[in-house]
Order: sequence, then structure tokens, then C-alpha cells
Amino acid sequence: MLRFAPSPTGDMHIGNLRVAILNYIVAKQIGEKFLIRIEDTDKERNIDGKDEEILDILHKFGLKYDNLVYQSKNLHFHQTMAMQLIAEQKAFLCFCTADELDRKKELAKANNEPFRYDGTCEKLSNLEVLDCEKPSVVRLKKPQNSIKFVDKIKGEQSFEPKDIDSFVILRTDKTPTYNFACAIDDMLYDISFIIRGEDHVSNSPKQIHIRNSLGYSKEIVHAHLPIILNDDGKKMSKRDNVSSVKYLLDEGFLVEAITNYLVALGNTTPTEIFNLSDAIEWFKIENISKSPARFDIDKLKFINREHIKLKDDVELSRLIGFGDENIGKLIKLYTQEGSTIKEIKAKIDAIFSQKDEYAEFKEEFELLKQTIKNMPFFEDYEEFKKELTNRSGLKGKNLFKPLRFLLTGAENGPELKDVYVLIKNYLMEVVK
Ligand code: GLU
Repeated sequence: MLRFAPSPTGDMHIGNLRVAILNYIVAKQIGEKFLIRIEDTDKERNIDGKDEEILDILHKFGLKYDNLVYQSKNLHFHQTMAMQLIAEQKAFLCFCTADELDRKKELAKANNEPFRYDGTCEKLSNLEVLDCEKPSVVRLKKPQNSIKFVDKIKGEQSFEPKDIDSFVILRTDKTPTYNFACAIDDMLYDISFIIRGEDHVSNSPKQIHIRNSLGYSKEIVHAHLPIILNDDGKKMSKRDNVSSVKYLLDEGFLVEAITNYLVALGNTTPTEIFNLSDAIEWFKIENISKSPARFDIDKLKFINREHIKLKDDVELSRLIGFGDENIGKLIKLYTQEGSTIKEIKAKIDAIFSQKDEYAEFKEEFELLKQTIKNMPFFEDYEEFKKELTNRSGLKGKNLFKPLRFLLTGAENGPELKDVYVLIKNYLMEVVK
């Protein structure tokens, strides 16, 4: 089973969506199930409704899952296994206060050393533990040997016991830390392959150590995806609007285009434009580059225009409130003028807007408007133009400049003949 394990603590980021898409693809490729695990154990940071938002985004992107769990429901498993580790003396209660630990951290900092837990409470006798009335956390004893694993993208990884450290697995309120809950749940749900962001590389040896300590021997394959950088070469953050999936969708980037872009990010793909089912055919996690990928909005815009051109006409028209294949075709034509559905919708709204006057050719504009209103319907643009020329007596730019404005609400744009065939059925509404 593969899993996507979002925390309901903020907006879904493109990095999270990339993780979800790639896990989905690999699950399909190897014929395993796909689990969504909402990691909601950090009550203070949870935001109401974020879980629903995440599930809604997964639905929009067609990432169907076989199973959905909320991590907090597994609390008793986390606590039971922590107890087991204590009983087997693989974990211990730690009574060090935050103040004491802070002082030791300061000291380590002053000596230019990374802070490591010094084992104070590991050395307590059973009696001392029983006697102690201070609040405690549970720490897992650091491993005896280094922990190694092969990352499908980054290659062999090795971590020394001191870098894994005797870390906290249950907090004073007896809720599990991220590493503990995650490691246990990956074991409980028989996860075989973990794909997640590079920021978790140093968590992986801790999670492996937790499972080793519990006697779990199944080896889980890991792949850590390089971070996504913004235009300034810095790690993308919430401050970069384009990093929010909701923002991209609101801006009118198509689900198909965002998917295409995120699969192609830092990757070599056989074609530039593809959809999710194509990617299932050829995707190889090993092809993802080790180096960070830079988010390129122009590339995303290009991919969006290409997916607009590929989309079903009626479906496309529905995105801007129509249900007409000609409007779908009009949206495609306007990819010359805009890259997102929002940008193109603005152009199409201008076509249907009330155009009262055109300053440069005031009289000609009014004359054309009245003439068209009284003209019969023409299928063909050439015939329409001929009749309009005859009736109005206008030609050259005296005809075309006001006509373009009357038909499109803009001074520039696609060829009028191409626009005409797509809006001719709405002509009376357009020249109203
Ligand atoms: N809740 C973690 C996150 O959102 C999950 C990381 C993981 O996949 O293990 O970063």
C-alpha cells in the first residue's frame, strides 16, 4: 500500500500535491492500494476544515483513494506500542524539563555543537522513575548501529546513532510525535513504498529505527523528492501565491495542466504534454533529478494553454458558465491571448459586454451596430462582411476597427473571421 499523509494545518501546497500525484501513480503502476492518512495528532496546529479541503483537491485531481484514516484514531496503538518499548527497555521515561533542556541546548550552541540528548533519564533506576512525580515524555533509545537505507532518488543514505539521538516518541500529554505516529501507522497499514518531500530525509532513519525496535522487519522503499524553489532560488513558501493549489485553481489553471507540470518537474518525460494515465504508463521515480526543481510559471502557462487546446469543447465552455461547443472552441482560439481560464474568460466577457461607444470611430461604430441589428443571419463571415459593407458604405479601417471593437470589446485579438463563426449564434447579444 502507498500513502499520502497530509497534515490538516494549512493550504495544500504544490509540493504536497506533487507527493500525492506521484504516490498515486506508483500505486497504480505496482497494483497496490492508495491510502490517505490525515495526520491530525498535533491538535494545536490543526485547522478546522483543512482536511475537507485536501480531500476536495484530491477529488478534483482524480486521485481516487482506497482508504481514508485520521491518524488520531490510532492513538491507542501508538500508546500501546510506546508501552511495549518501555517494557522491553528500548524506550524510557524522561523527566527533563523544557528549561533544563533549553539550558543544555544553549550550552551546545555556545560550544558550536549540535544538541544531543545526554541520557540523563536513561540512567535512572526503576525506583527513581517510580518516585518521580514530574511530567514525563517517552524517549526511544538511540540505535546501537548506523541506520542505512537506499533512496530511489538520492541513493544510499546512512545515519549515525548520535544523529538519530534518543528522541521523543510520546509527549507529556501522551500523544505521539510525528515520527512515532507515522512510523507505527506505516507499519499498521503495510506501507511498502514511501514517497515524500526531501524535508523528511532525516526523519526516515528515526522511523526505521522505531519499526526495527518493534521487531518489524519489512523493508519499506523510500523516495524523497527534491524541494521546489521559487523564482529567487529560495524554497517555495506560503508567501509564494503560486505555491497554493487553491490559488492556481482559482487563477484558472486546469487540473490536467497542474498535474502535467508537477509530474514533469525535475523529471525527464517522453513527451512534454501528457495526462495522468499517460504518466502511469511510463513514470519512473528514479528519473527524478536529485537537484532542487525551480518553479517556472511561464512553463506552467504554456502547459495550461496546451491542455486547454486538448480539452473537450463542451466541458471547457462549462468552466465559464456555458454549455456550448462553440464557446469551448472560442476559449481555445483565445489561448492566443491568454494562458489561464481566468484570463481568457475576461476576454470572452468583453465580447459579451455592453459596448456603448468607441471613441476613435464614434459614428462608424454606431452605424455598424444598427446595421448588424437589422441584418439577416449569415453563416459565413465573408457574406456577413459583404452585406455589412454594402449596407453601411464603410470599408478599410473605418469598417474593421469599429467592427472588431463591436464584436470583441477589444482593439486586438484573433482574426475576426475565426471569432465570427464561433459567436455568430450570439450576434444579437454581442452587438446589443
Ligand atoms: N504529515 C507529514 C507532512 O505533511 C507527512 C510526511 C510523510 O509523508 O511522512 O509533511
